[in-house]
Amino acid sequence: MDLPVDEWKSYILQKWSLVPKSIRDTICTAETLSDIFLHSSSLLQPEDEMFLKELSRGYLVGKDPDAPLFYREEGNKKFQEKDYVGATVLYTKGVSHSRPNTEDISLCYANRSAALFRLGQYEACLKDISRAQTHGYPERLQLKMMLRKAECLVTLGRLQEASQIIRDLESNFTDRQTLAASQFQILQSTLCRLKTKVQEKETPTGTFPAALTTDFEDMNLREENERISCASSSVTLCTDPSKGRGLIATKDILPGELLVKEDAFVSVLNPGEMPPLHASLESKWDTRATNGDLYCHRCLKHTLAPVPCDGCSYAKYCSQECMQQAWGLYHRVECPLGGLLLTLGVFCHVALRATLLARREDVGKVTRTLCDEISNRDIRSPESKNLVPTLGHDLAGEREKNGETVEPPIPGCDSNGKYESNYNAVLHLLPHTQNHGPEHKFLCALSVAALCRQLEAASLQTRTTSLKSSQPEAAVVPATSQELHSWGVAMLRHMLQLQCNAQAITTLQQTGSKESIVTDSRQVRLAAGLFPVVSLLNHSCSPNTSVSFVGAAASVRASLRIGKGQEVLHCYGPHESRMGVAERQQKLRAQYFFDCNCPACQEGTRRAAGPRWDAFRCPRCGELMQGGDVLSCGSASCTEPASRDHLVSRVQDLQQQVGKAQKLLRNGKRERAIQLLLGCQHDAESFLSAEHSLVGEIQDVLAQAYAALEDWQKSATHLQRSLRVVEARHGPSSVEMGHELFKLAQIFFNGFAVPEALNTIQKAEKVLLVHYGPWNDEIQELQEMKSCLLDLPPAPGGPSV
Ligand SMILES: [Zn+2]
Ligand SMILES: [Zn+2]
Ligand SMILES: [Zn+2]
Ligand SMILES: [Zn+2]
Repeated sequence: MDLPVDEWKSYILQKWSLVPKSIRDTICTAETLSDIFLHSSSLLQPEDEMFLKELSRGYLVGKDPDAPLFYREEGNKKFQEKDYVGATVLYTKGVSHSRPNTEDISLCYANRSAALFRLGQYEACLKDISRAQTHGYPERLQLKMMLRKAECLVTLGRLQEASQIIRDLESNFTDRQTLAASQFQILQSTLCRLKTKVQEKETPTGTFPAALTTDFEDMNLREENERISCASSSVTLCTDPSKGRGLIATKDILPGELLVKEDAFVSVLNPGEMPPLHASLESKWDTRATNGDLYCHRCLKHTLAPVPCDGCSYAKYCSQECMQQAWGLYHRVECPLGGLLLTLGVFCHVALRATLLARREDVGKVTRTLCDEISNRDIRSPESKNLVPTLGHDLAGEREKNGETVEPPIPGCDSNGKYESNYNAVLHLLPHTQNHGPEHKFLCALSVAALCRQLEAASLQTRTTSLKSSQPEAAVVPATSQELHSWGVAMLRHMLQLQCNAQAITTLQQTGSKESIVTDSRQVRLAAGLFPVVSLLNHSCSPNTSVSFVGAAASVRASLRIGKGQEVLHCYGPHESRMGVAERQQKLRAQYFFDCNCPACQEGTRRAAGPRWDAFRCPRCGELMQGGDVLSCGSASCTEPASRDHLVSRVQDLQQQVGKAQKLLRNGKRERAIQLLLGCQHDAESFLSAEHSLVGEIQDVLAQAYAALEDWQKSATHLQRSLRVVEARHGPSSVEMGHELFKLAQIFFNGFAVPEALNTIQKAEKVLLVHYGPWNDEIQELQEMKSCLLDLPPAPGGPSV
């Protein structure tokens, strides 16, 4: 998804193998990115572009006039099944394929308003009703929609507007002959009911819900750093000869303190699975919900009621404002390139958008003066990323002359020595040009070159049609061949930077069936973005911070106490609780080009045994087994060896059984699922360590199964066992622990175990606050549970014990 599709990748690799050796050598030994781009892009032939065009055509990104009807009918089916979220998504797909001001688009919006109404999303419902009307909703269907509008307004307490609509409906429809008798009756009774509701609401009851007192302090930095935008004053920017730039604590930091809050300089929504047209056999229209249907293309906000771009079917936005902003900043250029951008992958798209956001002058100016210089240094001194020249260099020299103490210039800072979340900082992120293989560089260079040809064509078109933009801030494409070259070099640089510097923007999605009372969630990748300030943090496999996202904004919070002078570290992915040391080292070397030397890695290499969540135990005495391919018991009295392969295949068998049980559970066969799981539990305990992750998983699924049977006590017992495994693996204050405690709180809450529930809510809150701050959905839900429990009348038999 990040890189170009496989067909294009193998096509380019094939091409590379046929490039004459002399030219290959020129590219391999090229000193600058500019040279790499120049030599590679000159090899891009018209037939290569044709091949790429053919691949791009495989994606349905335009508006298909036959799709709206199809999606509306599919949506209606879901609506009948009372799957209103499913229906909403399908109507959204219908909307995105409709042209503005057509009956298609107005019908899709109107149907979506009905589904939103059933979901209780009254504000969104009202917006869709007015959209349906703007796009020419047919007169003959107005009545039902107006009743829905009145109903929304009444529910929202907008009584004057509601009364006006009721009056309009009465005068327009009550004496009409067009209504059938039955319809007339329904109208009368509905209007009557609505009027009563309005009257009820107009009588003040004095019990208005108190407005939530919002304490936004925790959402924002206590005190912003003067030298680093978006960072707190508790940290400072330093450079280290071996690790380059990093953030150091300037005072003692407590867990939960917000250290960085930064909006992505650029982010691109991961479209999710968008299968090429020919892949689907049943229909050319995909009915599955993708990220693109549920999240704003610009700000990444979750929405069930997006508005589509007028020109394509793949860009959808949370609001008209987001759509207009995106259009002005970059989508004007991207809109016709949808298929190509999907073929070339998210990284290429981020590279283009970053360059568009930089604006033309900046790309030209900054790339001309810095880019070649920077890539030169990369090649000559690969280890010293702190030696990259900065604009602040001269200033430092100046200060030295005046006898002031001089800090070494830090790359990415502006002439005043301030590091800001801007294009200059993005440009200074390291591309590691010399570390990437020549094939990879060739692939990136040719992908960018193909994109540049499209931009050139677009620029020609703009000039010939003399379509001058009315917005001075509007996205522009390069106008001269020299400009085009610097855009190409900038984009190539971004593509290479992204491998090490792209931040995966994640969100929690609820999993499990809709009926399940105990919710589970999993982290999903929503987008890729560049955050110049977050990028300053170095990696540790046992980090002291936690990163979370709201839309395209990242928050970095301390997850542990960080002493003054200690480095602030975050984990690039390979976390010690998820991978063994060898696997981590290998991943970090391959993707980030460094050898990790963090305490967890040092400790891991010293210790012979692997992590306990992956360990086997002796079936005879229960001691942990040790060794490589052949394992032996740690106790001296047992000498029988065991083969790792055999044990691993037993684990796989068990995993399959657990999968089967989960399937049974989804199909409502709870007793059979429990029976199967109890067998698995028995089996697992006989040869796996008590903290083995599979042992925990079995307990977790058992807890779900008992929750489905509403046997809260048994459910809680099993979840507590799962909790112990999670704690052993991830630590007592880990985010994983927070989610598990949240589930346990729900179970106690449902079982009316008041003291246990309150106790667990408190624990869960404490852990989740550290990672997410107070505005997290789970924390809000915990608080609701708490106030509900505290309001509970005392149990008839006295307080529960
Ligand atoms: Zn938005
Ligand atoms: Zn578009
Ligand atoms: Zn490490
Ligand atoms: Zn033994």
